[in-house]
Parts: sequence; structure tokens; C-alpha cells
Amino acid sequence: MTNDRLDAWNYCWINGEKHTLPQIIHVINPATGETIGRVPRGGAAETERAIEAASQAFPKWSKLPAKARAGYLLDWADRISRDRQALAELLTMEQGKPLAEALDEIEGSADFIRWYAEEGKRAYGEIIPGSREKQRISVLRQPVGVAGLITPWNYPAAMVARKVSPALAAGCSVVLKPARQTPQIAIALFAHLMETGIPRGVANLVTGDAGVIGEALLSDRRVRKISFTGSTEVGKQLMRRAADQVKRLSLELGGNAPVIVFPDADLDEAAEKIVSNKFENGGQMCNGINVIYAHQEVADLLTEKIVSRVRELQIGPGTEPGVQVGPLIDMAAVQKVEELVKAAREKGARVLTGGYRLAAGERQGGSFFAPTVLAHVTREMSIAHEEIFGPVAPVIRFSGEEEVLRWANDTPYGLAAYVFTRDLGRVYRMSEGLEFGMVAVNGTSLSVPQAPFGGIKESGTGREGGRHGLDEYLETKYVTMMLPD
Ligand code: ADP
Repeated sequence: MTNDRLDAWNYCWINGEKHTLPQIIHVINPATGETIGRVPRGGAAETERAIEAASQAFPKWSKLPAKARAGYLLDWADRISRDRQALAELLTMEQGKPLAEALDEIEGSADFIRWYAEEGKRAYGEIIPGSREKQRISVLRQPVGVAGLITPWNYPAAMVARKVSPALAAGCSVVLKPARQTPQIAIALFAHLMETGIPRGVANLVTGDAGVIGEALLSDRRVRKISFTGSTEVGKQLMRRAADQVKRLSLELGGNAPVIVFPDADLDEAAEKIVSNKFENGGQMCNGINVIYAHQEVADLLTEKIVSRVRELQIGPGTEPGVQVGPLIDMAAVQKVEELVKAAREKGARVLTGGYRLAAGERQGGSFFAPTVLAHVTREMSIAHEEIFGPVAPVIRFSGEEEVLRWANDTPYGLAAYVFTRDLGRVYRMSEGLEFGMVAVNGTSLSVPQAPFGGIKESGTGREGGRHGLDEYLETKYVTMMLPD
């Protein structure tokens, strides 16, 4: 690859300008193991400059009418849509997912931005009746200030859109740190944002050492809000550190999503949707299904329907036509999945399809793991408790509603849960009883711009999407006033 291609995205965005550095990070294509790009290894100094730029830009940006802010966001979304093919190819190259999924992600990102462009106009306050005749009480909603945004590699475009657009719509200025594995798509999205002519310093992006940039964001009093999506472990560290300055926090962390299939469900539909959710993005989705709980009356039939679909899945580099499952993000991810499968087998699980990594021949160098279904899985196995984050579907049998509800809730996580049933009473009992931030009934798709995506328990705090997502970037100020005589 030529140096021009390698360095196409080799810069940070600080105060509206490209910023290069002598120290770099290599970006790897997970389908081949090859270096496909280089980005700056930024640190404390770059983050400080970005925060300074964001705090200088904040007063003017926050006072712009929401309609004017919306203008920039709508223009950004249109530019992303127009360039969707090139952006999707870049995303697939560094993240691995099939091109069709990358295209959906890019379009979804543009939709999300459009939605928040409009919702920013509805940051309404309130008028509250006073306690005395001349007292007037009003409630204002004001942007929190500079927001530090930290995004993961699994949905590297969508996560940028889901954090940057509500923040900017609310009137905040931002400093974004994308994941080390997938920085180029974030830099490219920012290039499109800069082309809208958005005022300097409103949106800044620093790539580099996560710990150092994170610390610079957390220790700076000008940063009033942190929004993070990533592992529970890092989320907890950030939460502890954010306590020092009582920074506002949104955390979208790990999950352990159950899908529960009752005997009265449409089994073909359930199998279809379970496979499409479980194997999306190679299973690397925080709200992706982790465990399939199948009622004993239908477990064999459902498993058969799932296995026959999984056997049909095409695995390979995301750029190849027809591929449905790409590589995992790196070899460490492959190893983790392999160990979980091995441990389950040792305790009696049976591999119905898959169960191995694909390392030889044309898959050499890529971090591929075959789509896998495991039967005879029990609650004692680590695969039932740990977030798999890979293309492995373990099936556990259950016999009753109370039992399965207890099992599903027996996890420190609480992001998403899925239920398949046609019994209306059961729909209510399960949706109300499941301790998760999101419950999907007879479907598995959760990410829409207008709904509050997010978790409870150790899956995090705060919501992305909907009016709730705008609230994350707004403070509430109450003003009381006595009318003069
Ligand atoms: P994953 O397991 O998905 O890689 P991480 O939590 O490690 O999850 O990463 C999610 C995001 O958090 C990435 O942008 C990563 O660079 C960043 N990150 C990792 N460690 C820290 C840290 N100590 N402080 C701030 N950000 C961090």
C-alpha cells in the first residue's frame, strides 16, 4: 500500500484544523492482518488543545438558535449519505463487518444525525406555578458545556453519530476519542462535518493513547460531561475518576442478552431473527444475544431451525460479495471465543456446527471464527455468564416462566433482552419482570433514533436516542422570580 493511502486519514481535528504528529498508530485490517492506515498517537498535549478549542467555541455555539445548529447537522447527514459507499468501504476495511452491514451503519448514522437535528429544537423548559401571588418559576434546559466522547470499535460510525449529534444539537461542544482499532472512519466522518463550515472548535477529535486521553478529559474542569461506550471494566474506572469533579456521565457498557423462546412462538420467525441478531457484526454487538433459552417442548425443533440457517452463513472478508459474517476484531477476540467454547465442551456442551477458528489457506492472517451453535449448555458454564462477543450461540433449555425469568435476571448486566411468545399475559409478565433497559418482543431490532437505548445495573447509565438522549447533554436550571409591584 502506498504511503498516500496509508496516511489518508493520518490527522486529528483540533480547532477546525488537521493536526499531524510524528508518533503514529497502525490500523489493521482484521480480515488480513495487514496494516491499512496510520493515525496520530495523540496524548495529553493534543487533548488539552482540543479541550481549549472546545471551550472557546462553546459560548457562541450554545447561544446559536437550535435551528442554526440543525442546519449544520442536516448538512453533515446529507454529506455522509452522499459518500456512503466510500465511508462503508473504509469502515469494513478497518472493522471487518460485511459491506452491506457497513452501508446500513452509515445510513443509520445519517438518520440518527437528522433526527437529533430536529430534536435539538425541542429542548423545552417549563413554567411551574409559584407558591405566592407574585412568584413565577421557570425551568430552563441548558447545554452542559464541553463533552468528552469516547467510542468503541464495534459500531465505529454509529457511535460517533449517536454521541456527537445529540451533544451538538443540545449546544455542547465536543472532544471525541475514537477506538484505537477504528479511528479512520471517525476521522472521515469529522472531515464531512468540517466541510459543513461548522464553527471552529465546536467538534474536535483526538486519536491516540486511550488512558492518557481519557485522563486528560477526566482531569480537566472545562469538560463537564463524559459519554462512554465500551467495556464495563473501563466504564467503572471512568466512573470512579469522574467522581472527583462530579462530571455528568453516560455509560453504555457490556451486556449479557438472553433471548427466551416459548412454545407458542412462531419458531421459524424466532430462528430467523435470532440468527440475524446473533451473527450481526460477527456477534460483536453489546445488545447482541448471548444465550438462547429455549423451552424444552420446542428446544430441539428451534435448535434445528437455527443450525440449518447458521450452516448457510457465508464467512469471509466483509468486502467480498455475499459474505454475511466477517472476521472478529483481532486474534485476542478469537482466542477468547475459542476458550469459552472449549470450556463449555469440557463441561458437556455439544457443538452442532462450527466451533473452530479459520486460520489456514485464504483466511491466513484474518481473525475468523466459524459461526457456531452449542447445545446441552448449562447455567454452570462460563459461556452462559460471560459476554461472548463472537459468533457463538449457546442453547439452554428451560421448563417454566418463573425459572427462565430468574435465570435471565441472574447477571450483573442489564442491557437488552428478547422474548418470543404470542401469549399476551406472558408478554406483560416478561417485559415487566426482565431487569434490562430494553426488551424486544417477537423481534430483535432495537436501535432506532427515536427510542432510548441503554442499560441498567452494570450495563450502564444514561440513554442514547430519543428525547432522553438529548437530556444527557442538558442541565436543568430553575429560575424563581418575584414580580415587582
Ligand atoms: P473494548 O473491549 O470494546 O475494546 P474498551 O472499554 O477497551 O472496550 O474500549 C472502548 C473505548 O474506550 C475505546 O475508545 C478505548 O480506546 C477507550 N478506552 C480504553 N481504556 C480507556 C481508559 N483508561 N480511559 C479512557 N478511555 C479508554
